[in-house]
Amino acid sequence: MTGKVYLVGSGPGGTAFLTRRGREVIDRADVVLYDQLPGEEILASLPERAEKIDCGKYGGKHTLEQDAIEALMVDRARKGKIVVRLKGGDPFLFGRGGEELETVRAAGIAIEMVPGITSALAVPASVGIPLTHRKYASQVTVLTGNEDPTKPGPALDWELLAKSRGTIVILMGVANLAKIADALVKNGKEKTTPVAIIERGLRADRRVTTGTLADIAAVAKKTGVKPPAVIVIGNVVKLYDPDTPDLIPVEED
Ligand code: SAH
Repeated sequence: MTGKVYLVGSGPGGTAFLTRRGREVIDRADVVLYDQLPGEEILASLPERAEKIDCGKYGGKHTLEQDAIEALMVDRARKGKIVVRLKGGDPFLFGRGGEELETVRAAGIAIEMVPGITSALAVPASVGIPLTHRKYASQVTVLTGNEDPTKPGPALDWELLAKSRGTIVILMGVANLAKIADALVKNGKEKTTPVAIIERGLRADRRVTTGTLADIAAVAKKTGVKPPAVIVIGNVVKLYDPDTPDLIPVEED
């Protein structure tokens, strides 16, 4: 009998934010293919009897290439196993879950989704930044900062993004921050637009850096901002209050 694949989002960190459904399917798994992002607490809670396969990226180097990961998922399911593909946040938001879904479906294997709480929402929430607010923003755009705005290609429409009056949330954006801020300003976005960078959200050593589109790149360089971080651009950042404690209790290491 063929097994089944579950694409599971582990949430933004710690077992507290893994869904009940996620916990259920992880506990039944024969095989867990995990990334680095789910975090130590979740990884330590994987069933002892399950085969655990590390698919993470370390220092920009993949332990396993995407094709190899997908081949393993299909192989183990064909052997009748319950396969959990475990990812940080939600698998369908910059998690390559879409590609895995296609492959598993094409192989004729049953698949079930277990969405997770994405860092795009939870990390700003943890420091009191809502993505929408009646006064400040009625729309949100979540984008990858991996696309270099100075390179030609199908990437992102910076002109349109600069016109947007909504909140812009950027994942994987630290390396290209200066280029992104520049592209937005060049295309007409107000230089005074507030920006917050939240590094290592929901962790004890999390840090928030704030500025405006005009100065955020210089500030981030000076303070040594590093990934993983969520960047929030827009007037909702005005709600950030450095004097209030975390709105989500942090994970202690
Ligand atoms: N699928 C994931 C995102 C994967 S892309 C999700 O839904 O959350 C990886 C990016 O997510 C990182 O580069 C960073 O921008 C963001 N991220 C994930 N966890 C984070 C955390 N704890 N703190 C800050 N940023 C985080």
